[in-house]
Amino acid sequence: MRRPRRSRSAEPVPTAGPAQATGGSGALIEVRGLTKTFATLDATITAADNLSLDIAEGSITALVGPSGSGKSTLLHLIGALESPDSGTISVAGQDITGLPGKRLAAYRRTVGFVFQRFNLLPTLTVLDNVAVPALPYRTDFDPYQRGRDLLAAVGLDGRENTLATRLSGGQQQRVAIARALLNQPRLVLADEPTGNLDSSTGEEIIRLLFDLRDSHDTTLVIATHDNELAKRCDRTVQLRDGRLVPGGS
Ligand code: ADP
Ligand code: MG
Repeated sequence: MRRPRRSRSAEPVPTAGPAQATGGSGALIEVRGLTKTFATLDATITAADNLSLDIAEGSITALVGPSGSGKSTLLHLIGALESPDSGTISVAGQDITGLPGKRLAAYRRTVGFVFQRFNLLPTLTVLDNVAVPALPYRTDFDPYQRGRDLLAAVGLDGRENTLATRLSGGQQQRVAIARALLNQPRLVLADEPTGNLDSSTGEEIIRLLFDLRDSHDTTLVIATHDNELAKRCDRTVQLRDGRLVPGGS
């Protein structure tokens, strides 16, 4: 990423709680006894089955496992896009399960989400896609200015006014990464971010994500099917049927 290295003390990253707070174990994320079921017409599916897991601040974790093993569900639960049936998730010392509306929205703004299908708004320009998540809120920064800076950092300067869907898949994923970084999240959750990209474009996206840890000490959790990518992460967490498979690294 071409963004210059910037110290946190100069421009604090918004956080869910006290600036560098972590939970009792020292981990940024502490998942305890997490269970999530989905009721379908003919069955109840346990997508997270009594999961417990710690994720260290500034680490890069690969979340692997076959399709349907619960990777997306776990990311959605950590990002508070869904709430669990039982169990707790503490992020920076704050239990984020069952937060009331305003605090929930505040927590979500400290998390950047990158999806496999990019999830850009097709009728908006590239810059609007990046800035729009901040517009409902009062911010201490100009979302459009920061959006331009982030687009330059992901190599998309000059494309600000293009409709998002006019871009290639790799470019759309870069827009999605810029959007995820708008609030300077300390935590980025990426759900198969290279799943729809060819391998060299995927590699560029992975480099952008890994750079975040190097430049901003961002904690990354990346769900992936790519074993080569998983090997490059600090740690691999393997899921099967909503449970942790023992023996990950
Ligand atoms: P993965 O990301 O590893 O492919 P998911 O977390 O998407 O796995 O899914 C885990 C299980 O939960 C799967 O059996 C899936 O079909 C089911 N599931 C996920 N979301 C829903 C939902 N909204 N409604 C019903 N079942 C769901
Ligand atoms: Mg998934």
